[in-house]
Amino acid sequence: MATPPGEMTPMVKQYMAIRSKLPDDIILFYRLGDFYEMFFDDAVRAAPILGVTLTQRAGAPLCGVPYHSVDSYLAKAIRAGLKVAICDQMEDPATCKGIVKREITRIVTPGTVTEDTILDARTNNYIAAFTKSPRGDAWGMSLLDLSTGDFCVEKFATEFQLADALMRFAPSECLVGREAALTQEFSDLLTHTNLSSVTEVDDWTFQFDAATQELVRHFKVHSLEGFGIADSPELVGAAGALLKYVKCDLLRAVGHIRTIRLNTSGEYLLLDETTCLNLDLVPMRARPKENTLLGVLDSTLTPMGARLMRTYLQRPSGKLAEVRRRHDAVDWFAQNRMAMSALRSTLGDVRDIERLIARVGSGLGNGRDLKTLGQSLAAIPQLKKPLTDCQNELICHLVSLLNDLPELVKTLNDALADTPPIALHEGGIIRDGYNADLDEFRRLAGDGRSWLLNYQTAEQQRTGIKTLKVRHNKVFGFYIEISKGLAEQAPPEYERRQTLVNAERFITPELKEYEEKIFGAQDKAQALEYEIFLELRNRVAAHTQEIQTTAAAIAELDVLASFADKALAQGYVRPEMHDGDKLEIVGGRHPVVETMPGAERFVPNNTLLDCLENQIAIITGPNMAGKSTYIRQVAIIAVMAHAGSFVPAASATIPIMDRVFTRVGAGDDLARGRSTFMVEMQETANILNNATAKSLIVLDEIGRGTSTFDGISIAWAVAEHLHNTPEVKAKTLFATHYHELTDLELQLKGVKNYSVQVKEQGDTIIFLRTIGRGAADKSYGIQVGRLAGLPTPVVQRAKEILGNLEEGELDAAAQPKLAKKSRKKIDFDEVTGQLHLFEL
Ligand code: ADP
Ligand code: MG
Repeated sequence: MATPPGEMTPMVKQYMAIRSKLPDDIILFYRLGDFYEMFFDDAVRAAPILGVTLTQRAGAPLCGVPYHSVDSYLAKAIRAGLKVAICDQMEDPATCKGIVKREITRIVTPGTVTEDTILDARTNNYIAAFTKSPRGDAWGMSLLDLSTGDFCVEKFATEFQLADALMRFAPSECLVGREAALTQEFSDLLTHTNLSSVTEVDDWTFQFDAATQELVRHFKVHSLEGFGIADSPELVGAAGALLKYVKCDLLRAVGHIRTIRLNTSGEYLLLDETTCLNLDLVPMRARPKENTLLGVLDSTLTPMGARLMRTYLQRPSGKLAEVRRRHDAVDWFAQNRMAMSALRSTLGDVRDIERLIARVGSGLGNGRDLKTLGQSLAAIPQLKKPLTDCQNELICHLVSLLNDLPELVKTLNDALADTPPIALHEGGIIRDGYNADLDEFRRLAGDGRSWLLNYQTAEQQRTGIKTLKVRHNKVFGFYIEISKGLAEQAPPEYERRQTLVNAERFITPELKEYEEKIFGAQDKAQALEYEIFLELRNRVAAHTQEIQTTAAAIAELDVLASFADKALAQGYVRPEMHDGDKLEIVGGRHPVVETMPGAERFVPNNTLLDCLENQIAIITGPNMAGKSTYIRQVAIIAVMAHAGSFVPAASATIPIMDRVFTRVGAGDDLARGRSTFMVEMQETANILNNATAKSLIVLDEIGRGTSTFDGISIAWAVAEHLHNTPEVKAKTLFATHYHELTDLELQLKGVKNYSVQVKEQGDTIIFLRTIGRGAADKSYGIQVGRLAGLPTPVVQRAKEILGNLEEGELDAAAQPKLAKKSRKKIDFDEVTGQLHLFEL
């Protein structure tokens, strides 16, 4: 930072003192009158981002934004990844002597935004922190959404799993220890996950003792036993460091953070980031929402419902009892449509009470926030009404958690004006009739105004000057203005104050007397109003926990009713969930493809998978036949079922699973600087290393990224491994255009061939979209080539070569030549040469 040239004025001194306490990467918004000003390097950096003019004062660069629109500039800065410290005036400049006291009141970073104007209401905004356990055997991650107070931790055995979770939750900011960040594994992790904003803090804040202290103090508990994390230094470290950063470094209010949730992996159906992306579950990496499962499935009506819906799809339940419980509730709603529509029409009146109470509970929040909160709480009796006779266990439980706080609602309604302003100190928040003193001050101020009007009329008549006006400005307060030509006629008791080009301004003792009355009364009214407001806000804040619980219950009701709504609208059925192995779908559809506007009529298909005869389904068929759509549809139906939704099928039996893996498509992952084939092999390695008999694997054209022979060999070996390794034995859907792979069925008893049927009609082929048993008889590639206009001799020659290839496929004993020789178990690592995520 450059030092300002010349003599240091007191203000510059104050500025420099405040600035020197901040790290360089934080931009300082320094309140100066009606503006937030930026100076020196801050100004140079911020001006182009904020779109404001960079000027100079005494050789120092400077720019500024008006205080009343600071939020929109804050939004620009945060979106550009900047961090902003807000420095406010702590005294009223009008009344204080000397330089106004200023302090940094909060620091806003991408991960800690709470402004409604910047946040997307329907997604969470997370800040994350992670660390490694002292023994080096585990990773801990903490996640906080400051705008809702949602705070959770999760443990991971490997850096792969951590990386995956980080990419899935896509935090807007991530916290790590400064020294730790220098180690190879941390820097690999950070490079790999490509997080948008990384913040480094002192490593000791992650240490067990310091972090424990921080958490124990915040939650006012004796130990962390109650959260189930006391024995996990990596979890405590990640949570403690994160809380300390937000509270102490950013000076943010954290009173609304009331608990830590421990996420344990067994509770969820794990979906890695690749799978979320491949199955288009939720919009990620700027993909449009319409073409995702969330886009089709989400008809929630509240922001907290929308956020929970997204969470359910990214992180479906892995517990049979929980999944069934949700299906029971969805079933109840679907069978009680009247109740469901009644509930849903009231849900529309409930605003984002989760974020509102987070602001209020953390000592922020304005009159409008309280009003909205009060109105939303007032809708709760109406929410409960259609559910009073409900027999469903989960719904009844959720209804019992709804706390409508009638007294608080009444107080808020009595106290708050119909549309309170956002400003806290300018009055207009409290209703007339709520507080007698306030009413009196307001009457006085109002009387003063009407006196002024009368005074103007009286003076016009007395002096005969028709254009005489009583006016007001900040410098003189009230004054009388008379146009130049008539100013001569002003009576002698008028005291001249200012001469303008075409008017004269005067004051009178009477005017000044009334001015004092008005301003006095107005000031008192505003001060009293602020006091009443603070008292109200504290009263609401005292109910933070109840309102948080209520908000969570509303979110869940919203999601369940939305599932039911979609089930009815789209013709979904309840999947039968069980603990066994068999997955059977009759008449399954792809929920997104079937709703695409302008698409052909969707053809439903069946699926049967288990861990014995039907472990691996190999699906062949020409390009564009529908292979990819089919295998994804099965995975999506499984995900929907675990999330608690009904599914697009005539009937479905779905076993509880632990993970869904996908390896789909062959697009270059350029963003992460890895070649297609490398990515493909890493993802395949990940699958083979982590799949169990409870997993579902979807493989689309694996091996495509390399030469045909390599590709086929790898694909073949992968299938054998999945089939022959007892610990793996995962249900697998394998779409391939390598016709050779259909020979696997001859070798392995758990493999079944399927193909997407097509009909030849003259020169063209018609896609029937039905999946049938048996391998595709040909690939039709040559037909497609002919259709595309390949010269006839080329088509003829291609047919000959194809014939040669097909002839050589089986040996004399009608066994596939490919499978000959080494039937020794292939170790995948030998094939790929030990591929590890970070060994690049
Ligand atoms: P492949 O993977 O075999 O090349 P895709 O799965 O990409 O084929 O499907 C090609 C197109 O066919 C898709 O754009 C989709 O709209 C359509 N399609 C796929 N399956 C069906 C189906 N069951 N019913 C109707 N249209 C389908
Ligand atoms: Mg395909």
